[in-house]
Amino acid sequence: MVKFARCNALLSLAIDASGKGCRYVAKGESDNDVVKDMDAHLTSVHKVQPGEMTANILASTRTHGS
Ligand SMILES: [Zn+2]
Repeated sequence: MVKFARCNALLSLAIDASGKGCRYVAKGESDNDVVKDMDAHLTSVHKVQPGEMTANILASTRTHGS
């Protein structure tokens, strides 16, 4: 069972380092792991403050296979 959240579900106009629409998907065994993964991505690629998006990440986190 893997949980995941899509970057472009959080930041609809997000573009990645090469200027294309961002297709990053954060994955983890739990909501916390997904938030941690996505926080690191948002911080390094989109310069979003850690923690700022936590509620949105949780709201868009989905679970595979359920
Ligand atoms: Zn992204």
